[in-house]
Amino acid sequence: MMLSREDFVSVDIKRSYIMSKIRKTNTKPEILVRKYLYNRGFRYRLYRKDLPGNPDIILTKYKTIIFVNGCFWHAHEGCKYNKMPKSRTEYWIPKIENNAQRDIINKEKLILLGWRVFIIWECALKKQNMEESLSKLVLKITNQFE
Ligand SMILES: [Zn+2]
Repeated sequence: MMLSREDFVSVDIKRSYIMSKIRKTNTKPEILVRKYLYNRGFRYRLYRKDLPGNPDIILTKYKTIIFVNGCFWHAHEGCKYNKMPKSRTEYWIPKIENNAQRDIINKEKLILLGWRVFIIWECALKKQNMEESLSKLVLKITNQFE
């Protein structure tokens, strides 16, 4: 079967739809982090578009930004949840590398603007380690953890 140009276009639309989920807002892990912080008295803003990378959580009072990153989409190094699909690697590898590169650039820009940037990976929010990860995050935010 020959694929028409339209077939390729529709594949591309589907892909970009999938890719748009990378910066999908209000994901389960994000909400988890937000609830935890909120319950401990932290107040924050979400997705400030005027900041590089449109950060997930902005704690203005602490000059702190938190990104809640999916391990696959943001290429968590050495993480077992960061598994590249076996097919279409020619598509995925550059995409994911691009994301990781953009993350680094955004982080640098934010630091230059005087923000502290903490990344919390999705794998750190699994049931068995969530409490530890989040309590550590709170300590970092409040400068009690090095
Ligand atoms: Zn991970």
